[in-house]
Amino acid sequence: MTPDFTEDEIQRYSRHILLSEVGGIGQAKLRDARVLVVGAGGLGSPLLLYLAAAGIGRIGIVDDDRVELSNLQRQIAHRTDGIGTPKVHSAAAAARALNPGVTIEPHPFRIDAANALALIAGYDIVCDGTDNFSTRFLLADACFLARRTLVSAAVLRFEGQLSVFKPHTGPDAPCYRCLYPEPPPEGMVPSCSEAGVMGAVTGVMGTLQATEVLKEILGIGESLSGRLLIWDALAARMRTVRLGRDPACRLCGEPAEIHDLSAHTKAPAPACAL
Ligand code: ZN
Repeated sequence: MTPDFTEDEIQRYSRHILLSEVGGIGQAKLRDARVLVVGAGGLGSPLLLYLAAAGIGRIGIVDDDRVELSNLQRQIAHRTDGIGTPKVHSAAAAARALNPGVTIEPHPFRIDAANALALIAGYDIVCDGTDNFSTRFLLADACFLARRTLVSAAVLRFEGQLSVFKPHTGPDAPCYRCLYPEPPPEGMVPSCSEAGVMGAVTGVMGTLQATEVLKEILGIGESLSGRLLIWDALAARMRTVRLGRDPACRLCGEPAEIHDLSAHTKAPAPACAL
C-alpha cells in the first residue's frame, strides 16, 4: 500500500496519501523526483517550500544573488536576519527546516550557456522563476535540447502567467519559443524593479507553479502543456488560452535553426530580484 515509508513519513504525508490520486504510490513518485528551481525569489520561495513540504526527494536551487531588504516584501523563504547571505543558502535553510527528509542542493551561481545543460541533466523537471528574458530563453532552449519538462511562471505588477512546456512528449506540445519566438527588444518590457510587483501575486503564481510540478510528476489531472494560464489579480479573473505548436518555430520546428546554446553568450540583464 505505502512503499517503505517510515511511520514519521506516513504521518507527514498523510493528507497526500489520503488522496486517491496520490496515495502511497504517488508519494513514492514524489520522493523519487528531482526538480530544479531556477531563481530563489518571489516565485521560487513558495515553489521551493511547497515542493519540500510535498516530499520531493531532491530539489536543486540555482541563484547567484544575495538577500536584500527590498526582496522581503515577497521572497518569503528569506528572513530579515538573512540579509546579505546568498539566497540559495537562505532558501535551502528554510526548506530543510520545513522538511529535513528531502535533499536540497544549492547551486550558488548564475545559470548560463556554459553550465546550463550539465546542471539540468541532473533533474527531471525544471522550474523557471527568473526575472529576465535572457535567462528565460536560455532555460527554454536548454530544456528543449535536454528533453526536460519546463514549468514556467512569470509575474509583473498585478498579473501572472503560467504554462508547462514539454515538446519532447508529442508533436502537438509547444515549446516556449512557439509562444515567444524571440526576447523583446531591451527596455520594451519593464522589469519588476522598474514597474513593481505585488508580493502576494508572486506567492500565488509560485504556488500554482508548485501544483503543476506535482501534477506532472504524479501524472494526474490536465497538464498545462498547450495552454497558458493568465491571472489578473486586480480583476480577480483567471483564464487559460490554448497554445499551439508553431511549425515555423526556430527551436522545435522543421527544420530547426537552434541546435545548441551558442547564441546565449551575452551577459544577462541585471537581476531585478523578482
Ligand atoms: Zn517551438
